[in-house]
Amino acid sequence: DTSKYTMAEAPAGYAGEGFFATKLSDVVGLARANSLWPLPFATSCCGIEFMATMASHYDVARFGSERMSFSPRQADMLLVMGTIAKKMAPILRQVYEQMAEPKWVIAVGACASSGGVFDTYSVLQGIDKVIPVDVYVPGCPPRPEQILDGVMRLQDIVKSESVRRRSSDEYKDLLGSYNIK
Ligand code: SF4
Repeated sequence: DTSKYTMAEAPAGYAGEGFFATKLSDVVGLARANSLWPLPFATSCCGIEFMATMASHYDVARFGSERMSFSPRQADMLLVMGTIAKKMAPILRQVYEQMAEPKWVIAVGACASSGGVFDTYSVLQGIDKVIPVDVYVPGCPPRPEQILDGVMRLQDIVKSESVRRRSSDEYKDLLGSYNIK
């Protein structure tokens, strides 16, 4: 019943009594945000917390993300969890590049976000040195609630983005400037 709202109170999308108006980009954003297919890139302890996030108690399926993909071509949400050695950085970049657009990245935990406690010659000091990151989840390790919070924050980003989101070439300057050898 739309008559109970004044225009000032109406939820987003209501254009007046008796009908509903929205934009194509909002509909696409809503669909994308509620069907994010995760690609878990787990190398160490944070990955264990993600296993709990997938299981029935925390149930990531509530957010439309229960369909794990281990093929980059069939995933749109890359979750990087764990310590990433510099030797692994080219593999991570390759996995990212194999994903089709649109695609998003969550850095789960301190190691993926910044190298964590491993401030050493062999560890990548944050995955954003080699791929673009949309959401950083703090913690060592983050609890499943925090990982779910990261997914929900990504959903907010996805909902508000335009249909044509990001050119694959936009991050190439960033990658080109980093010597991962
Ligand atoms: Fe392990 Fe902590 Fe690094 Fe996560 S952030 S991979 S829990 S050391």
